[in-house]
Amino acid sequence: MFNLLYIAGGIILYKMLQNNFPEKISEHITFAEAIKSNTAIKYGIKNMPNTGQLANMLRVAKYVFEPLRLHFGIPIRVNSFFRSKRLNSKLPFHSKTSQHMKGQAIDISSLNKAVSNADLFYYIKNHLDFDQLIWEFGTSKNPNWVHVSYVSSGKNRNQVLRSVIRNGKKIYIKFDL
Ligand SMILES: [Zn+2]
Repeated sequence: MFNLLYIAGGIILYKMLQNNFPEKISEHITFAEAIKSNTAIKYGIKNMPNTGQLANMLRVAKYVFEPLRLHFGIPIRVNSFFRSKRLNSKLPFHSKTSQHMKGQAIDISSLNKAVSNADLFYYIKNHLDFDQLIWEFGTSKNPNWVHVSYVSSGKNRNQVLRSVIRNGKKIYIKFDL
């Protein structure tokens, strides 16, 4: 019995040292949802950040997601956060320089009828520091989701864009709504 416990403990410790990942990225984002991707599952892609990418993710969560979550006080859906290079390449309309690959970008949407995706977008635009904020598709009233990235307070460009489909391609235009 003691031996079995000893072995089980050893395996758990080994796994922890091997992975060394936290259970949570921040108060309201679990590590599991930060790396979750149906496309990764479909193609059997291991979607794991390295320590540098993880550090970037912690900043996105701390400076963008949590302040937003705190302001609205409702659950916000994480559609996509970290994407390995291989996973990113499998996605339709993917950008070859996507900040998701660095752990610097997150895609979010509202789960609550009282708060729209547009509300999330405008709160970030008017109150938070960010690198890139994108109104993703949708209509002039509401985006399908919000893409936001964060690099560092010194490097953030505060760039606001809108994605649209032109001639079957995803392009980014200056935010004009
Ligand atoms: Zn995105």
